[in-house]
Amino acid sequence: MTLKFARLGTAGNEQPAVIAQDANGAEKYYSLASLTTDIDGGFLASDGIARTREALESGKLKEISAEGVRVGTPVARPGNVIAIGLNYTAHAAESGATPPEVPVVFLKPTNTISGPFDAAPIPPSSEKYDWEVELAIVIGKEASYLSSASEAANHIAGYAVANDLSERDYQIPGAAGQWTKGKSLPGSTPLGPWLVPADDIEPGNLRLQTLVNGESRQDSSTSDMIFDPATIVHHLSQYMVLEPGDVIITGTPEGVALSGRFPFIQPGDVIELEIDGLGRQRQEYYRAVAGAAHPVSFVGTNA
Ligand code: ZN
Repeated sequence: MTLKFARLGTAGNEQPAVIAQDANGAEKYYSLASLTTDIDGGFLASDGIARTREALESGKLKEISAEGVRVGTPVARPGNVIAIGLNYTAHAAESGATPPEVPVVFLKPTNTISGPFDAAPIPPSSEKYDWEVELAIVIGKEASYLSSASEAANHIAGYAVANDLSERDYQIPGAAGQWTKGKSLPGSTPLGPWLVPADDIEPGNLRLQTLVNGESRQDSSTSDMIFDPATIVHHLSQYMVLEPGDVIITGTPEGVALSGRFPFIQPGDVIELEIDGLGRQRQEYYRAVAGAAHPVSFVGTNA
């Protein structure tokens, strides 16, 4: 049975849930409150996914309604959000870069994570805010100095959709070889709607799409990745400890505004990002105003 893990509720009050098909094939939502207080590293590291399957099969989970309820990020605020750059050949080309021989790695602050349907702010003076649909890996057990990619695969809990929003003027000119300023903005990592267990999805050939106001911008496949998820986890484990609940976003395919083919994000734009089997995000963009509070908390996920 394919499971979809979700966290439902207002920012900071998300409750753990799982979506599964009942005996008639109808999709139902079930509370995970009897198993865990949250979908976080502790839950994933203690075989939470397997325990969820057992509880579902024995009818122990209570059905809930998700109607009208906000969908939060599918995992609680992680210890780290690690990003891979230039991991698709055609995107490297449109960025004016040569495809890397080893993974390009950068970090995003964990308070950039936001819900997949939350209104998304364009920074007050930004003119080059850009979308990046990406396959996100969620780590299921600690990974350090792993010996091989096949071993690394066992440390992946599952996958989700991410948007690696990037401000190109802050990221590139004068950045002196670092991208951090363009990759750290409030709400710049919408994640979700679901975490799908690694056992339930084959990540090697998934269609990824971005639509801006209904028009196609990105439409590629994870089969075009230079470094696949297991290779990325193996590689990263040589340089840092990956902890349960950590999120790795694995790079974006071609079709970003940086290519010069499309306008950058404007206030009022609606952006939808979808990966086969992992669901669809949708964000409405607005201009953030200096000094004004954000309409949703970007740091409010249960820690
Ligand atoms: Zn990216």
